[in-house]
Amino acid sequence: MKFEDLKLHPAILKALKDENYSEPTSIQAKAIPLALEKADILGNAQTGTGKTAAFAIPIIQHLIKEIGQTKGKRKITSLVVTPTRELAIQIGDSFKAYGKYSHLQNTVIFGGVPQNPQVRQLRKGTDILIATPGRLLDLMDQGHISLRDIKYFVLDEADRMLDMGFIHDIKKLLLKLPKERQSLFFSATMPPKIKNLSQQILVNPKTVTV
Ligand code: AMP
Repeated sequence: MKFEDLKLHPAILKALKDENYSEPTSIQAKAIPLALEKADILGNAQTGTGKTAAFAIPIIQHLIKEIGQTKGKRKITSLVVTPTRELAIQIGDSFKAYGKYSHLQNTVIFGGVPQNPQVRQLRKGTDILIATPGRLLDLMDQGHISLRDIKYFVLDEADRMLDMGFIHDIKKLLLKLPKERQSLFFSATMPPKIKNLSQQILVNPKTVTV
């Protein structure tokens, strides 16, 4: 299979060429067509499989179609929550790379650093927010972030998220997310606790395994 077979926007295909990606990885070949149809996805995949592109490419495609070239201040319509600062930065870089020929903006926020530069960036407006749970809730509580316009939600590395004790943060977050949305849930392992959490987030999900 080729990326050209996935009916991706030319701006995305051009960006993938720049990355020298010749063909989709297994998780991408399986997940991208489903995600483009707006299905919820339960993805069983670890880092290194290309799972970031498996969720980033469909989100970029949706947003290019919906927001296109519109000017003006951006609302946060996509949210990716991931357990660590390193992952958040990597995911931000991936959105930047795959979306480089679009006009989409992304912002990365994580804890352990001063919040002001992050708040300043948020004020400029962003389409895609990539966040670790603690800093996200913090900035929401302070009124710097609203999730009311979220249409696409990704929970990345769910098993690690639970191992790191983020379950309460995630539950709090879920209460603030609009019901009408597409959710993509990724975890390297699927023990009962994770299955249970996925059932609270996903509606009629398609399961995708590497
Ligand atoms: P991830 O599992 O998302 O952390 O990705 C692992 C690595 O694979 C990253 O360095 C990506 O840039 C790279 N990658 C993702 N998709 C592809 C692809 N289709 N072809 C080649 N490399 C890829």
